[in-house]
Amino acid sequence: MAKLIIGNWKMNGDSALVTTMVAQLKPLVSSAESEAKVVLCPPFPYLGVLKEVVSGTAIGIGAQNVHTQPSGAFTGEVSVSMLQEWNTTHCIIGHSERRQYFGETDELVHQKATLLLEKSIQPVICVGESLEQRESGQHETTVLGQLSKALEGMDPNQLSKCIIAYEPVWAIGTGKTATAEQANQMHSTIRQKLTTLSNESLSRSIPILYGGSVNAKNSGELLQQPEIDGSLVGGASLKLEDFSQIIQSCS
Ligand code: PEP
Repeated sequence: MAKLIIGNWKMNGDSALVTTMVAQLKPLVSSAESEAKVVLCPPFPYLGVLKEVVSGTAIGIGAQNVHTQPSGAFTGEVSVSMLQEWNTTHCIIGHSERRQYFGETDELVHQKATLLLEKSIQPVICVGESLEQRESGQHETTVLGQLSKALEGMDPNQLSKCIIAYEPVWAIGTGKTATAEQANQMHSTIRQKLTTLSNESLSRSIPILYGGSVNAKNSGELLQQPEIDGSLVGGASLKLEDFSQIIQSCS
């Protein structure tokens, strides 16, 4: 399958960058030989601009969060129907920054995933261990625990619409990347878990992305790994040249 590259802008960028980024990426994703599917996740205020400028292109519209309630007194939050108005195709949930700073628990991740699937928005479910958990050999248990809770009770149809992003917390924004072998090994463990929850062919159809300091230099090696179906890119997705090179490294 084509590799999936998702740009997570976090709380960065502006409307002008949305326009210039899309203009830069258009030729890369429109060619028949393009090996990459691309989704941009700017902050909420720029989703309207993104919706306008991606119209007629293959670039997907991604959000960085959603609230579990349909509406109400939740100051500062955004509902799933609002995401639908922006033609949102994907939504990141369970990012380690949301888990760390905003109390996003596994239970909340599960609720958000289920809600998004009901509304035909693909959840990008982030999982990953801390440095301490890796050093004490708890990395697989941690990641599989997060995954099991997020996907609890889902039927094959729901599972088939999920996207998993393995993001070791120690590699996010630190410049430290998991080695291609470490990432591939964890992806393979995640794939085995997905197989036990469904079956081999369904688990093969669920994209498992790697995230954590992916850049123009290391993306080629990471994306060549058999179990890595794409990447969730933070810092480098804000840089026109670097993000373009990451996309081109899919071919
Ligand atoms: C992220 O925020 O999902 C991420 C992977 O960030 P960075 O690429 O900057 O490490």
